[in-house]
Amino acid sequence: MTAATESRPTGQATQNQTFHGSCFCGSVQFTVSGQPAGMGYCHCESCRKWSAAPVNAFTLWKPETVKILQGADKIGTYNKTPNSYRKWCKDCGGHVFTDHPGMGLIDVYAGVIPELPFKPGVHVHYQETKLRMRDGLPKMRDLPAEMGGSGTTLAE
Ligand SMILES: [Zn+2]
Ligand SMILES: [Zn+2]
Repeated sequence: MTAATESRPTGQATQNQTFHGSCFCGSVQFTVSGQPAGMGYCHCESCRKWSAAPVNAFTLWKPETVKILQGADKIGTYNKTPNSYRKWCKDCGGHVFTDHPGMGLIDVYAGVIPELPFKPGVHVHYQETKLRMRDGLPKMRDLPAEMGGSGTTLAE
């Protein structure tokens, strides 16, 4: 009797995985591929006002991993600051992502890619919080040092 050999490389499937996302109405369709550069929650006033929510769940991706499949012409852009180009669907008003050219990353809102298992690792801009979240994750005063922030953490 011969045992079946398992030659499939482990981890390959998750590395190359593609996750499908869309805006509220479905006019804008896109995918993200691989694994995000980071996931977490942003408590800053800009995110709160833009999303009309107490906190923004973010997932950060390199621009080449985000592909628009449909509705590129429906995407509106607003940039209050050169750091953040906020994008939404012109048909439904649903928010889809924010381009951060300075960081070289795109924040695709966790809420618009339900297929992606959301595994937050950090809270940012916690000094501005309106919703304390006692989940044991690090609470950055502003941003991690590698993202241009102070790198200081706060108590929950
Ligand atoms: Zn839409
Ligand atoms: Zn924010």
